[in-house]
Amino acid sequence: MKAILDHVGIAVQDVQQALAFYRDALGLDVHPPEEVATEGVRAHMIPVGGPSLELLEATRADSAIATYMARRGPGLHHVTLRVEDIRAAMGQLEARGVRLVSRDPRPGAEGSLVAFIHPSSAHGVLVELKQRATPPVTLRSTRLAFGDLQLTTLHDGPFRLDGGAMFGVVPRPLWEKLAPPDERNRIQLAMRPLLVEASWGRMLVDCGAGDKMGPKQVDIYALDRARHLDHALGDVGLTSDSVDFAVATHLHFDHFGGATTREHGALRPRFARARYLIRAAEWEDATHPHERNRASYLQEDFVPLKEAGVVEFFPGDGQLKPGVRVVRTGGHTGQHQIVYIESGGRTGVFVADLIPTTAHLQDAWVMGYDLFPMETLAFKKRFIREAIDREYLIFFEHDPEVAAGYIREKEGKRVVERVA
Ligand SMILES: [Zn+2]
Repeated sequence: MKAILDHVGIAVQDVQQALAFYRDALGLDVHPPEEVATEGVRAHMIPVGGPSLELLEATRADSAIATYMARRGPGLHHVTLRVEDIRAAMGQLEARGVRLVSRDPRPGAEGSLVAFIHPSSAHGVLVELKQRATPPVTLRSTRLAFGDLQLTTLHDGPFRLDGGAMFGVVPRPLWEKLAPPDERNRIQLAMRPLLVEASWGRMLVDCGAGDKMGPKQVDIYALDRARHLDHALGDVGLTSDSVDFAVATHLHFDHFGGATTREHGALRPRFARARYLIRAAEWEDATHPHERNRASYLQEDFVPLKEAGVVEFFPGDGQLKPGVRVVRTGGHTGQHQIVYIESGGRTGVFVADLIPTTAHLQDAWVMGYDLFPMETLAFKKRFIREAIDREYLIFFEHDPEVAAGYIREKEGKRVVERVA
């Protein structure tokens, strides 16, 4: 179990006197108090580096904290350790004969879960375990009528990547408010392929990571396969066999890993009836990886497609099918491209890793993963201006919650008006 010091709880008799010391004499910042009525306690958090001090005052004479002070006086009350999976932690402790105050965790502040270890098991210290709230991940398929086309936002389940890498040179204090990192500094993301249905057939734009990852990668990327692309297709009455074409924005595993599957040890195309549309120069880059991009270009994701004779290479920007057009952005990879969907006078754009989430709306918030960040910046600046002015419907491939929306400007700030 990995545990991180979250805070130290201090029981105080007179909060004004306590503040005179902690706030005024020490000069520390004190957050506005939070009252937990059910516990009869008011808590004042004081951040001190990573962890905090928590001043606890009783709001009722019969509360646990009042009873504690009546018996032992004010002072150190508890130590809180943050764990990733509180139920797993409690199970592990119980198996070793550690006495827990309750069998199940209970809801704490800000959507967290908490549980206490009895002081008799922790050498005289009341130890609180805490699991932070995990941001919600929206996993549903949404069908949108779009001119003559039908667009469906799908998903291939949630995953996580390093928060620092996702925001490049942006310091953590700025991005962590929009994308709270977990204990391993990873932020919650999703993989959201888009399905375009037209008279000419059904085209999948990207297809998620699929199921070929080993346990080590599953752990590193927190791949959760409880709900994935098959479920998302099933939600709208389709299966893998419903797909006629699959186009790749680029060949990184979180975008096109789902193109192949392993069956009885052999790799084969995942969509039995589909033609796979791949930009020729991206194929060249992906099949000749270097030290910097080798972990993202996994040969088993795409080489079996060529061997099966199902790939159609295209040379560059242009229309792939009526209403579907690709444009190279570069930046993220040398040949990274976005997909324009145009019908009935409307334009939708699947922006892939140009704007991976709604937290990346500012021009300079460019991923550390990008091979050519200045190229990303130049393209993104022009593109977002255009997307706002021309009201493009934007499909965010990696956002944990928002699958699609319009970028708007409100009082000089960019916001997303959510559609799906
Ligand atoms: Zn990606």
